[in-house]
Amino acid sequence: MAQIKIKILGGGREVGRAAVAVGSNGKYVLLDYGINFDEKDIPQLPLHIRPNELAAVAVSHAHLDHIGALPMLYTSARIPAVMTKVTKELSKIMLSDFLKISGYYLPFEQVDIEMMLDSTIDLYYDSEISFGDYTIKLINAGHIPGSAMTLIEVGDTRILYTGDVNTIDTRLVKGAFLDGIKADILITEGTYGNSIHPSREEIEKEFIESVREVIDEGGNVLIPAFSLGRSQEILLLLYEKLRWANVYYDGMVRVINDILVSHPEYLNRYDLLVRALKEFRMVKNSGERRKIVKSESNIIVSSAGMLKGGPAVYYLKKIMDDPNNAVFLVSYQGPTTPGRSLLENGYLTEGGGQVKARVQWFDFSSHAGADGLIKLVKSVRGLSKVVLIHSEEETGLVFKEKLREILNDIDIYFPVNGDELLIDLN
Ligand SMILES: [Zn+2]
Ligand SMILES: [Zn+2]
Repeated sequence: MAQIKIKILGGGREVGRAAVAVGSNGKYVLLDYGINFDEKDIPQLPLHIRPNELAAVAVSHAHLDHIGALPMLYTSARIPAVMTKVTKELSKIMLSDFLKISGYYLPFEQVDIEMMLDSTIDLYYDSEISFGDYTIKLINAGHIPGSAMTLIEVGDTRILYTGDVNTIDTRLVKGAFLDGIKADILITEGTYGNSIHPSREEIEKEFIESVREVIDEGGNVLIPAFSLGRSQEILLLLYEKLRWANVYYDGMVRVINDILVSHPEYLNRYDLLVRALKEFRMVKNSGERRKIVKSESNIIVSSAGMLKGGPAVYYLKKIMDDPNNAVFLVSYQGPTTPGRSLLENGYLTEGGGQVKARVQWFDFSSHAGADGLIKLVKSVRGLSKVVLIHSEEETGLVFKEKLREILNDIDIYFPVNGDELLIDLN
């Protein structure tokens, strides 16, 4: 009988800050080590784990809520880290940028990021690597390019961790691989465990029609979008449907695009992305930005997705007073962000002035909805335990009940940070 210990270091009843250690016989495999931001934009770190307790780290993808605290582990140790090659290259950019912006609050420096990258072993989807008693395999998770689910085998026990997962194909990436993976324990995200996304087709139709309405009348459309994932998906959609329009892209997205196009194996519509990036215009400096906001019928895709900074804030300030212009939000807006305030109150910050431009939100999620998550859970063969993380409390409690109704004889856990689950398998 195998006993598996699961330590929840982050992501317990919260979205983001994913950090879970899975162990048997003393040493652990760490699954992600991410951060969250509080309402004052201060990074919130996961709980501590001693580097000498770790056999290896497996990284699901390069969003900060999964990698933001990783370099902390490398200030005094070298632990092998496993991730896809594109995740490694993206992590370098994301972590260096994070350090530049939030360095004051972070217990690591650039040399620790470099040490982490030096300790990284890149792995293709569906290939394996062993560390002591553990064998690790990465499987496509469909969330962003290079995103992976992790399958850990120890003795005769198999544990599958989803990371962030999407089960539908998008233009940017193919949906997660769900073809009957065998696992005893599933550790799954549940960001949207309580809701079903409207069909992607409908959302895209509504979005494209709305963009057309604005540019046909001479207005400018600002689309604030995360630089990794959402920006490229929106550019692909615009290229397919409005190729003739004046489309610009700006912000950190420029560096990330270069990395993505050098890894065609992790993209769904590689050719389309290359053409979109070539034919649409990249904004190079502030002079170009000024020209764009003074002319008509432009579409601007720019970071940051929640309007917390970046060129998107500059564009917004320039276009917000004219009701012919529009701001179309296409990403999740965190509860205390300027983007959420814009949606709910019509201004970015109190005293910052009312936005008169049209404001609308579109559900372009890169996470599975409840239906996709259930499909995923049902596709796992031999399952006996489910651990639910990366989900707000309210959402997760509803999702847990839903799972209980459809899964007979399977234990479902919805732990909090600091919990240690001891799981005995027969
Ligand atoms: Zn996440
Ligand atoms: Zn993510």
